Amino acid sequence: MPIDPSKFRPATRLVQGGVQRTGHGETAEALFLTSGYVYDSAEQAEGTFNGSVEHYQYSRFANPTLTMLEDRLCLLEGAEACRTTATGMAAVNAAMLAHLKSGDRVVASRALFGSCHWIVSTLLPKFGIATEFVDGADLAQWRAALAQPANLVLLETPSNPMLELVDLPAVADLAHRAGAIVVVDNVFATPLLQRPLELGADVVVYSCTKHMDGQGRVLGGAILSSKKWIEETLQPFIRNTGPTLSAFNAWVLLKGLETLALRVDASCRSAASVADFLATQPNVSRVWYPTRSDHPQHALAAKQMRGGGTVVTFEVAGGKDGAFAAMNGFGLIAVSNNLGDSKSLATHPATTTHMRVGEVERARLGITDGVIRLSIGLEDVEDLKDDLRQALAAARPQAAA
Ligand SMILES: *Cc1c(COP(=O)(O)O)cnc(C)c1O
Repeated sequence: MPIDPSKFRPATRLVQGGVQRTGHGETAEALFLTSGYVYDSAEQAEGTFNGSVEHYQYSRFANPTLTMLEDRLCLLEGAEACRTTATGMAAVNAAMLAHLKSGDRVVASRALFGSCHWIVSTLLPKFGIATEFVDGADLAQWRAALAQPANLVLLETPSNPMLELVDLPAVADLAHRAGAIVVVDNVFATPLLQRPLELGADVVVYSCTKHMDGQGRVLGGAILSSKKWIEETLQPFIRNTGPTLSAFNAWVLLKGLETLALRVDASCRSAASVADFLATQPNVSRVWYPTRSDHPQHALAAKQMRGGGTVVTFEVAGGKDGAFAAMNGFGLIAVSNNLGDSKSLATHPATTTHMRVGEVERARLGITDGVIRLSIGLEDVEDLKDDLRQALAAARPQAAA
């Protein structure tokens, strides 16, 4: 008898959820590398097209390997329905464009992933959609912006790279009163540490490229929401515009999910420990980590998150020179703009991921030239601290003799 994975805890769901075995009884999920499907008869084809028969039709619309991944993600998130996409950006874009039309209004937190910021600031206005940014941590700004009717709210919490939090229940309440749906980019928290749908969000989006693959191999995205919104609003958009995930990448992601709970748990523990270690270093002027008592929103983190996440952000004294000296001194930690990988990665946001947002916006976001974003992987945490210790020591301005 097939098991019902919804009876199990998250780590079990990640291994057993969504599995659909073929008649061969394979242990691992089957990889359906097929673009199309054949029918037993012309009548079955007709029925598939008119909806009276359930049958796969074309892999731009659905594919059994993707279905397994989508079902597993639903079980993890506690969502009714899911669609996957080729990248995280395709997920954000599809969720927004499927829902919005000319004349609509979007309110977004300013601290968004660079390409999400571009969609709101540059793409949507081209189609006659009004957009407004607010400081995500400031409820008064959300209240003011949502005093007028709106159609969609987009936010990221914790944000990239400054790990600023948005009060999800409070903003969801304001958004719903304004007539807007709430779309949460939950990449930094992962579905294991924060469940936005339970906190009032309507749609959750992921870049599966990050922790879900977690081993730096494939790109992918996911959108989770109610069955009604996915089927009526999102599915026609995906079906007809084709941001579809490849079956191979879906299969890699299914295998990645099997170890997600182990990996996120280990990286989180190391990240919290690295954050405390960095705070003791003389040329580190500030550390941001959501569950540390010096994070301005740690009380909110305790309320809506089950852990601080796998990213630590810190500021090195000496601005860009200090940050570059530290980064160039890393032996183990690699310089990269990715995150959520088993390998620990360091980013200098001001000159890479956030170069394009401009100096004024960077200042508003608190991204100074000394800020480094550290994505903590699966190495032994003591090796990471050793690497940070020697790189920071080398970056320290030599005391006058
Ligand atoms: C990486 C990322 C994205 C974009 O995902 P891709 O898979 O690179 O397209 C969107 N939002 C956040 C918060 C991200 O970290």
